[in-house]
Amino acid sequence: MTFQSWGSICAPWQEGGFNIKELLSWNKALISKWLWLLIQGRGGVWAAWTEFYVIVDSSIWTVLSKPHFAESWRAILKVRGHLLTIAGSQQGAQAALNSCVLKGEFVVSKPYDMFRKKRRKLGWTKALICPELLPKHKVCVIQATQQVLSTLDKISARGYPMVNWCCLCERAWESHRHLLFRCSYSKNICRLMQSWLDIPGCRTDCSLKNWLYWISAKGGFRSWQKIVVTCSIAGMVYSIWEERNMRIFRGQARSHDLVAKQLQWILQTRLLVSFNSCIQNWLALK
Ligand SMILES: [Zn+2]
Repeated sequence: MTFQSWGSICAPWQEGGFNIKELLSWNKALISKWLWLLIQGRGGVWAAWTEFYVIVDSSIWTVLSKPHFAESWRAILKVRGHLLTIAGSQQGAQAALNSCVLKGEFVVSKPYDMFRKKRRKLGWTKALICPELLPKHKVCVIQATQQVLSTLDKISARGYPMVNWCCLCERAWESHRHLLFRCSYSKNICRLMQSWLDIPGCRTDCSLKNWLYWISAKGGFRSWQKIVVTCSIAGMVYSIWEERNMRIFRGQARSHDLVAKQLQWILQTRLLVSFNSCIQNWLALK
């Protein structure tokens, strides 16, 4: 999957997106709450007025939209039509609305899930549901897994003439696969991070997706180890991409030792705020 539309970016974490609300579907979900209130007769004076002057002898499911209706009312009927299309029948639509009620209250996130375009759930995204992850690391790792970072192989494939040479090792063509983590420079950072982590069973010699699949499927780690390893992997991806950009756009280069040391300091600072006592014990040994 590649990020080809705003819809992909708005997808939840589990579907490889950035968990941003898609406003068109969210608006439909909010309007469907009005639909439910009307059906329940809980819309106050407005519902009573609508019942008397608009619906008259018809029902909310059969009343026709007319050009002279207020825009808000036409929007409700439009959402009703959408709901009928999704559910297939009036009974189905009614059941779908009822399924959005929790403890007597309408939960808008449920119809939002009905209206938005769903994508396949990805097996590796569970690893990224980690509050300790720095947002910029998380965004970068999602971009890397979706292969949407502007690596030189992608830019030259668009027809721009350039030397597609990895600026980190200067020994191979630059691509997602090479940078993460086949490049000798990246491998050195992985090696240093592995010895810093000092967590038994922690490997750094596989591809980024395999890493995330492994962590998502537990991979033999305990919960605190999972947090530390996920933060380190995401941090490595970000640091390697940052170093690559600094070399290309600013002409500045750091050694792999320095990049690893700076990343370790960032992770230590970040994890210090964690309430997990095992993480605090692990940090105390550093
Ligand atoms: Zn390289």
